[in-house]
Amino acid sequence: MEENRARKLLVNTGKKLLETGLVARTWGNISCRLDEENIAITPSGLDYKKTSEDDIVKLNIFTGDWQGRRKPSGEKKIHIAVYKAFPDVNFVIHTHQTYASAIGLVGIENLDITEDEREKLGGITRANYGLPGTKMLSNAVSEGLKMEAKVILMEKHGALVCGSSQEETIEKAMLLEEICKRNIKFSFEEKREKDITKTDELLKTVRDKFKYIDLVQTAAVLECASKGLPIYAQLDDMAQMIGRKIPVIVNDINHVVKALERKNAVLVSSVGALVRAETEDDMIALRLLVDKAAVSNLHTAASNVKTRIGIVDASLMKLVYKMKYSKQKDR
Ligand SMILES: [Zn+2]
Repeated sequence: MEENRARKLLVNTGKKLLETGLVARTWGNISCRLDEENIAITPSGLDYKKTSEDDIVKLNIFTGDWQGRRKPSGEKKIHIAVYKAFPDVNFVIHTHQTYASAIGLVGIENLDITEDEREKLGGITRANYGLPGTKMLSNAVSEGLKMEAKVILMEKHGALVCGSSQEETIEKAMLLEEICKRNIKFSFEEKREKDITKTDELLKTVRDKFKYIDLVQTAAVLECASKGLPIYAQLDDMAQMIGRKIPVIVNDINHVVKALERKNAVLVSSVGALVRAETEDDMIALRLLVDKAAVSNLHTAASNVKTRIGIVDASLMKLVYKMKYSKQKDR
């Protein structure tokens, strides 16, 4: 594809994916093939709303050399692996989409999927865990690519979707989410009771104390909150932005305020989750993360799969994330 067209297409895809909720914030990345040697790829750590055509990076998949005013995505290695493995792939989307990420924690052996869906996806497989941006992760993805599958669920991380065009790849990512949602072992219709008076009271107080605070009351979050189940980080992005655990706090205003001074997400019984952020965008990202983490915790528990991010990895990721993100904000 011609370079300028590719730049426009990637910017436009980022915005589309934001709208569908398949990506949030700077998570996920997109690329497309320019010619036999080069691809165009989204830059590292930049919000899709702020990404312009000039921010897109041109990258040689054989030498790793790149041209652009920004660094290419930190996950470029997994994109490169795809283009090398599949000559017929022209477009790659990597997301941290909710249901596919949750399914990736348990596996796809018992996935309820029709032959027609499998064919539309171009095959589906799962890749073992590797810390973001590492050789271990790209090696795991390369192993997955040997299965000839065009959709790869990356354990504890997200999804990699490969297609021949932008349209086809977005469609695949959306179909994947639909398939995965119906495979989650939790009934989304079953709504837990909410204490409206208590919630209002609590919200009023915390909104006075913190500038960016929001309430999350999705079915999965309410379920965890009412059962008094803390949510543990099973996915890298929660470990990065929230930490190892979202605690359950007793429904008492002072306790909740104190907890929110230390943590950016807490669960409160019959209220749901409260998230505290530094910016509006952070708040939206936290809302998505808390819901995704609740879905993942419930799905793994119902599947009898024990998986958590270890203390060391979680602390490390949070630290790296903090450093990266504060640097970016200073720009
Ligand atoms: Zn990722």
